[in-house]
Amino acid sequence: MALINEHFLKLPDNYLFADIAKKVNAFKVSHPNADVVSLGIGDVTRPLCPAVVEAMHKAVDEMAGAGTFRGYGPEQGYAFLREAIVKNDFLPRGIHLDPSEIFVSDGAKSDTGNIQELVRWDNSICVTDPIYPVYIDSNVMIGRAGELRDGRWSNVTYLACTAENNFVPQIPDRRVDIVYLCYPNNPTGTVISKDELRKWVSYALKNDALIFYDAAYEAFIRDPDIPHSIYEIKGAKKVAVEFHSYSKTAGFTGVRCGYTVVPKELTASALDGSRVALNKLWNRRQCTKFNGASYISQRAAEATYTPEGREQTRQAIDYYMANAAFMRRTLSELGLEVFGGENAPYIWLRVPDGESSWRFFERMLYNAHVVCTPGVGFGPSGEGYVRLTAFGSGESCSEAMDRLRKWL
Ligand SMILES: *Cc1c(COP(=O)(O)O)cnc(C)c1O
Repeated sequence: MALINEHFLKLPDNYLFADIAKKVNAFKVSHPNADVVSLGIGDVTRPLCPAVVEAMHKAVDEMAGAGTFRGYGPEQGYAFLREAIVKNDFLPRGIHLDPSEIFVSDGAKSDTGNIQELVRWDNSICVTDPIYPVYIDSNVMIGRAGELRDGRWSNVTYLACTAENNFVPQIPDRRVDIVYLCYPNNPTGTVISKDELRKWVSYALKNDALIFYDAAYEAFIRDPDIPHSIYEIKGAKKVAVEFHSYSKTAGFTGVRCGYTVVPKELTASALDGSRVALNKLWNRRQCTKFNGASYISQRAAEATYTPEGREQTRQAIDYYMANAAFMRRTLSELGLEVFGGENAPYIWLRVPDGESSWRFFERMLYNAHVVCTPGVGFGPSGEGYVRLTAFGSGESCSEAMDRLRKWL
């Protein structure tokens, strides 16, 4: 008899965005003529930039010729991309990595979800709250998170990030094995300072803990003092894995490409006390379960580092950040408490008058025909907030702000 993995049954049935879609559809059925503007889902809308499109066309042409065709590539990614990553994303920040410490993948969601396979099922995990749901759910699936009680998993330490603590998570007062950090943050759009990040690296060094650092929004940072990589902190290579994605940076949500940094210095303990390099384990894991990102996607990613590619991706990011600035300004003028949106494409809005996230979501939908994401969907400390994304078109963003102005 085949028995299923019971841990999957512990995961709540409904995914946040499916719930939102259901409510939006119910609204549309009763209001067939309403034109709904979505500031909800975190997907990009700008097309791929010309430099990327050209590189992809060229790669397709290579695939079409017997002499230049490519089959399976290296599981870790092509050397041309791993070298471009080291040279462009890290060297200018004074971070020296070897291409063998870079693992190209089909995106950061798979890698942030899969990385937990490298550690034992009984390690303790700690997350900032609210949070990108993948970190917790991937741990639930293998039984590391415990049981769900009142919206919290029993074996997970939640570090509240709210306006009250200025969205700075407090370092736990006991030891945990694994810490997930995501900066700039999805969903709050807030960032971490070098001093705060240094505290985490010290904590991990002192407690022999691992940090899984999601830097998917690194390219949106405007403030020169905010770290783009955890490896800007001394000692971080000994404790941290870092995840990157071209999805938000270069509009690759449909192309699929990202990478994960696993430094050679990064080790964790085996039961007999010996130290094991995670680079070797991740390499083994990827070679067994992953056959590489497509050649075409990797050429596309490489093109983001050419002078044209850089300039064009920067323009797309500027476009979204102009939306974010406009939203911040409008919402602040309306007397709302607004966070994020300065170094990230997300605005985190405090729901006025102590109303719940879902209630405010519904009122915004029915009164302004604008869709947001209820903060509580990202964790218990997200209650009382909603997330708005800057990923829409300038027109839809300005239409949404007009409607909110009229409504509020
Ligand atoms: C969008 C996003 C990613 C990127 O996922 P991909 O699989 O690369 O598209 C990773 N982490 C966070 C927090 C995100 O919001």
